[in-house]
Amino acid sequence: MDFSFPPEVEDFRAEVRTFLAENLTEEMIAATHDGTIHAPALHAAMAERGWLSGPVPEELGGAGRGALASVVLNEEMQLARAPIDAMAVSIVVASILLEHGSDHLRTEVVPRLLDGSALGCFGYSEPESGSDVAAAKTRAERDGDEWVINGAKMWTSLAHVADYVILLTRTDPDVPKHKGLTFFLVPLDSPGIEIRPVPTMAVERSNATFYDDVRLGDEWRVGDVDGGWAVMKTALKYERGITGGQFPSPPVIEAAIDWAENHERSDGTRPIDDPTVRERLVRALIDVEVCRGFAYHTAALAEEGAMFGVEGSMTKLFASEAYKKHCRWFQDLMGVDGLLTHHNPDAHLGGRIEENLRHSPVTTIYGGTSEISRNLVAEGHLGLPRIR
Ligand SMILES: Cc1cc2nc3c(=O)[nH]c(=O)nc-3n(C[C@H](O)[C@H](O)[C@H](O)COP(=O)(O)OP(=O)(O)OC[C@H]3O[C@@H](n4cnc5c(N)ncnc54)[C@H](O)[C@@H]3O)c2cc1C
Repeated sequence: MDFSFPPEVEDFRAEVRTFLAENLTEEMIAATHDGTIHAPALHAAMAERGWLSGPVPEELGGAGRGALASVVLNEEMQLARAPIDAMAVSIVVASILLEHGSDHLRTEVVPRLLDGSALGCFGYSEPESGSDVAAAKTRAERDGDEWVINGAKMWTSLAHVADYVILLTRTDPDVPKHKGLTFFLVPLDSPGIEIRPVPTMAVERSNATFYDDVRLGDEWRVGDVDGGWAVMKTALKYERGITGGQFPSPPVIEAAIDWAENHERSDGTRPIDDPTVRERLVRALIDVEVCRGFAYHTAALAEEGAMFGVEGSMTKLFASEAYKKHCRWFQDLMGVDGLLTHHNPDAHLGGRIEENLRHSPVTTIYGGTSEISRNLVAEGHLGLPRIR
């Protein structure tokens, strides 16, 4: 088996590394401690290179750089600890609009998402529906030529910096739940929208968003009326596929190795001298290789035109669970040092392991929880019966 990438993909990897060395600053990484996983200057520099339109297929108007290049871009950005959430979400929103959006959305909004002048965010989950996203209650009702939207969304991450939310609504409450859904793209400066912060135990800020008689023209509809479930499938395909975060562990392992090699214990030994510590580090590095295997396999399927299905869920499940496990292992090894937070000047590498430990659980929740991912793998890969 030949696991090497085509030369043009490796050339692109080298270009990304050079770009990050020149454009990603410590200040940008530090700015994410306020909970907003977005660096506007970096985003703009990437847009200028056409990298935001890169993953969008050529036939849909993107640069069609291919899935392998996309996964390499994600990998290098995460290895460098560059904020990627706003970039990944905006690319997914643009891709959904290109597949299902009206002419208005494709010509007016998509170019702004891809040139970096606007950001999108996801409005699927509600206080009473997350895993069972099709149970959404936010109503969209026709009033003449307009739609009127009323309801509440929970966990609308990035809404406080985004320009548009792609919103899942209920247009027909009298049919089975998957059949009465419709998507809209809603400008977040529309009258009637309120955005309230939802802090998480990690650095990440999310939001609750409220829609009170928000009026929209039909040009803001995405996909068919009551055809929202087809749009949702496209959205999840992109989110769980090649644009997500499959490489969260390496910066944490890097911090753990640095600590193990440089921390001197009271008996004069270093943690790296301890075979138990070395074994944990090696096991974590092996997990990263498995993550690479999953992510590259998913990308290779997409590159061959066989759009991945359950493979995206496998990748996401393995990477997020491994990340959570690694953070726990390393904090455990570090003892009290592992409890020092970012704000403590004595914290090792700015408290990177402690902060990631608090962040890691949410990666096993958003984009589909681990239990939901296991269900999908059980049904889609192992052929086990559907239980819902
Ligand atoms: C930090 C953060 C950011 C997020 N960002 C966004 C965003 O930007 N946009 C957005 O729309 N959503 C976002 N979400 C929402 C996220 O997608 C949901 O939280 C997630 O899908 C779970 O839904 P829930 O919270 O309603 O939990 P529930 O669906 O109520 O699940 C509760 C528990 O039950 C389990 N469970 C549920 N159903 C099953 C089943 N059938 N089989 C087995 N176990 C099951 C779940 O795995 C979980 O452990 C975010 C969430 C977080 C925490």
